[in-house]
Amino acid sequence: MNSTLHIIPIEQWLPVSTLPMVIAGPCSAETEEQIMETALGVAMIPQVKIFRAGVWKPRTRPGAFEGVGTKGLKWLQKAREQTGLLVTVEVANPKHVHEALDHGIDILWIGARTVVNPFAVQEIGEAIGGRDIPVMVKNPLNPDLKTWMGAIERLNRMGLKKLIAVHRGFSFFNRSPYRNAPMWEIPIELKRLHPNLPIVVDPSHICGNKDLIPGTMQKALDLEMNGLMVETHFNPAKALTDKNQQVTPAQLGEFLSTLILRRESDNEFSHKLEELRSEIDKLDEELIDILAQRMRVVEEIGTYKKVNKITILQLKRWSQLTNDRIEAGIKMGLSREFILKLLESVHEEGIQRQIDVMNRNES
Ligand code: PEP
Ligand code: MN
Repeated sequence: MNSTLHIIPIEQWLPVSTLPMVIAGPCSAETEEQIMETALGVAMIPQVKIFRAGVWKPRTRPGAFEGVGTKGLKWLQKAREQTGLLVTVEVANPKHVHEALDHGIDILWIGARTVVNPFAVQEIGEAIGGRDIPVMVKNPLNPDLKTWMGAIERLNRMGLKKLIAVHRGFSFFNRSPYRNAPMWEIPIELKRLHPNLPIVVDPSHICGNKDLIPGTMQKALDLEMNGLMVETHFNPAKALTDKNQQVTPAQLGEFLSTLILRRESDNEFSHKLEELRSEIDKLDEELIDILAQRMRVVEEIGTYKKVNKITILQLKRWSQLTNDRIEAGIKMGLSREFILKLLESVHEEGIQRQIDVMNRNES
């Protein structure tokens, strides 16, 4: 089920002349000097419109730096006065909301560890109490679009219309170069379901290290995402949190200058694009047809196994099949990772079909 969101377009409350719209600032507020130097640095970059800093930091284990608390809000106020940038902080409970509002913070954001909890989101929404403040909602740690969307819908129903989704990647057990797997299909699906909801990409938390950031920024633009949130620190080596992924204001400026702003599918290109899209439609149809055929054969095998009392999972066969298919896929220019993911998904569905066959007519 998909409920409509009532969103005020970002352009109506945040004038952006130089694309992409960028939110920059340190992971955490540490000192007044760090906030001011960083804010003055990022304010020179025309794309930067919003200054971020966490003053209450959610840490995985106790004992680490947990933020400077309320005094950091005063530094943000000062940064706001001196740069003209809007300022944003993370809020995780009603007390944070009240303090942020008391200090004139312009935008709130809900972090990945809070958004999973509907009680917390409800309480934050209630503390905001109908004030017309923009809220950014990060995706939860786990790859769960429904929870992410649910939090946004909840706030929207409470009257908040200046909402932004922030894509910060997902925890994933597979080893990958990213700190949090981007799983672009999830924000793309969010865009498909809610085309009017702006999505900002946070390459810092996706990448976990600054070398991967430019590629991820470009990818975000190519996927027509609406902005970027990049952790920026005047001296990343000394940062108290997330130091590997923070960049200096100068580096941020450089990264932004190398981005290619591709044209949206305007008329000149739409014809060719349409052609290619219809080719994709046709191929997808064939793909679905072939998958359905494969499942029918799998069910036949299931029936055979049932009659002959053979177990469903034949591990040796499965591992040989996987190796063969990966080899074939690689020859066709597909990546090992992709084939494996595809096969696992097909296999899972096949096993379920066979379990259904086994259980049929047995009750
Ligand atoms: C942050 O933006 O500094 C942060 C804590 O992010 P997340 O909630 O995405 O982990
Ligand atoms: Mn961080």
